Amino acid sequence: MTKKVGSTGRYGPRYGTKTKKIIKKMEEKQKTRKTCPYCERDALKRVSAGIWYCKKCKTKFAGAAYFPKSE
Ligand SMILES: [Zn+2]
Repeated sequence: MTKKVGSTGRYGPRYGTKTKKIIKKMEEKQKTRKTCPYCERDALKRVSAGIWYCKKCKTKFAGAAYFPKSE
């Protein structure tokens, strides 16, 4: 028996912490900066869930529920 079911579990917590950190960082960034993908100005306003409106170029578009870019 060379393969153990729990052998990959060793890396689980490490990946989890790193991923959590990245997600938290991304969320914080996206909460504060709402950059318009069309004119690239921080003038986005969330009209409703998934709907964004740019005050500068007057563009209304659908995006992710809480931030304009879902990437
Ligand atoms: Zn714009």
